Amino acid sequence: MPEREYPRAYAYIREMVSEITMSESIQYDNLYKYDSIRIIHRDDILNAFCTPGGYIYVYTGLIKYLDHPDHLAGVIGHEIAHAELRHSAIRLQKEFGRDKILDFILFSSAGVGGYIQARILSQMLTLDYSRDQETEADELSVVYLSESRFACDGVGGFFRKLVERGEDDAIPEFLSDHPDSKKRISNIDAKVASLRCNCDLSSTETWEALKKSLPTTPQ
Ligand SMILES: [Zn+2]
Repeated sequence: MPEREYPRAYAYIREMVSEITMSESIQYDNLYKYDSIRIIHRDDILNAFCTPGGYIYVYTGLIKYLDHPDHLAGVIGHEIAHAELRHSAIRLQKEFGRDKILDFILFSSAGVGGYIQARILSQMLTLDYSRDQETEADELSVVYLSESRFACDGVGGFFRKLVERGEDDAIPEFLSDHPDSKKRISNIDAKVASLRCNCDLSSTETWEALKKSLPTTPQ
């Protein structure tokens, strides 16, 4: 969905990302374009991802599903962690070659052809990370959020809702290790305990306004 038609939604997500990337544990904010955000109007997709160059994609289905902004911040933090830890870059390099991925990181659409760019983005949706990589990204999400105003266990809140509702059909990337969701929740809780970080949920007033500002027709 274009930013010019939905400036409010873009401003909201951009501010959220900028707060997450203020964390001192973020290393690549000079190289990556974390302020480059795309909201994709697909209400049936519970997903978000961050490309190796730091481009962040969020699906309307995920925003509409979540009850708290902290939970979206947790998922975005998780995706940023994969980019920071170069999990996706390493996987994509195997497929496309190092130079193409480097071009993608440094120049985005100007550096690689539209066809390659489209293929990289579609690969991002189906990337399968290892268990260890998912654990690392979950823990780093807690670290990032611990330095923000969001509840630091945001990513765990999202898992809890899925587990409670038994929703196994739309398995997004960050749930690629789905059978172990409960284990991931307890691992996140352990990280929270070790950091003793704040788990108070933010106000949902502007969050509800964000949801209302999204397109209402399903797509
Ligand atoms: Zn993940």
